[in-house]
Amino acid sequence: MKIHEYQGKEILSRFGVPVPRGIPAFSVDEAVAAAEKLGGPVWVVKAQIHAGGRGKGGGVKVAKSLDDVKARASDILGMQLVTHQTGAEGQKVRRLYIEDGADIQKEYYLSVVTDRGTQKVAFIASSEGGMDIEEVAHSTPEKIVTVFVDPLAGLTQAQGEELAKGVAMPADSVAQFIDICQKLYQCYMDTDASLVEINPLNRDSKGQLIALDAKFNFDSNALFRHPEIVALRDLDEEDPAEVEASKFDLAYIQLDGNIGCLVNGAGLAMSTMDTIKLFGGEPANFLDVGGGATAEKVTEAFKIMLKNPDVKGILVNIFGGIMKCDTIADGVITACKAVNLNVPLVVRMKGTNEDLGKKMLADSGLPIISADSMAEAATKIVAAVA
Ligand code: ADP
Ligand code: MG
Repeated sequence: MKIHEYQGKEILSRFGVPVPRGIPAFSVDEAVAAAEKLGGPVWVVKAQIHAGGRGKGGGVKVAKSLDDVKARASDILGMQLVTHQTGAEGQKVRRLYIEDGADIQKEYYLSVVTDRGTQKVAFIASSEGGMDIEEVAHSTPEKIVTVFVDPLAGLTQAQGEELAKGVAMPADSVAQFIDICQKLYQCYMDTDASLVEINPLNRDSKGQLIALDAKFNFDSNALFRHPEIVALRDLDEEDPAEVEASKFDLAYIQLDGNIGCLVNGAGLAMSTMDTIKLFGGEPANFLDVGGGATAEKVTEAFKIMLKNPDVKGILVNIFGGIMKCDTIADGVITACKAVNLNVPLVVRMKGTNEDLGKKMLADSGLPIISADSMAEAATKIVAAVA
């Protein structure tokens, strides 16, 4: 789960990481009132969307008067902000953050993330902050320093020094830098984050460090113990189909292709997508209906898939284990009738009560194409949408 920058900064500040003073605003009037309250003389008006690259896209503007704040806020609020992370259609700006303008001398990059390879928390830092870290990693990887944290020891002083050295932090800021890293570690662990990224971490002309941006990702499996973080969720920033799916406990991710997939089990869903691609097709979504799929859940799953106008055919691939094939067949038949299915449907089912499930589909009178193997299913659906 992601949150907005201003919410992230509030969390950082709670853990003692320095951030500029700022006030969120939901209208131009609120933005001007916020600026008055902060007092200036320089403000930054920042679009709040769940995507980075806002500065380059025109969503971060400096203002030097209240009139300026008003003008910039009017420009940004309601705009369709396009960044390299939003896709071409962009994201509508519904919230602003009005912040004290910082004295920028040098921008650093600092992030904490869980590294699956080493199964450790990793600190990643660079002297090349402010810009796209992927670009730095690509063209000048030597400018990125990474340290892996031992879960028992936490981030040690020596590792803090290694990070400071790796970004060539001037001597008078090293102690503060290490202190920030240690607070960030505490913050990462205590909030069950999966990513905390400060880009840029600014060093001002007096050598003081301050976080000018804050990006958080939280491990959704841990959200049950963080109601205060769940409360920060902004559904406007999430894909409506994915929000709808989560209400029915369906794991759904929309993709760019035209073959809808309905599968039970995440592993089978992944290999179904791979098989579709292997046979020259493109999946329109990832959809795991889980172990306890009822007819109602399958119907909702069909409805969600079919809301995507790109879907030209559906492949149902079910392994009947705990979930019996006849239950799924019942769900598929109910769903087809409920949604008035008008795209080709290929069903492949294997496992418990397979014969009964197949017979129910055959007897239903619905134009369902059945398949026995995954290869056959993929071949048939790819041909049907061609
Ligand atoms: P994004 O990463 O989405 O582009 P940032 O919050 O990093 O958004 O802002 C982009 C750039 O704008 C920063 O790299 C920094 O140079 C500048 N900036 C952001 N906040 C401030 C601030 N409070 N004062 C001065 N400059 C800022
Ligand atoms: Mg940034």
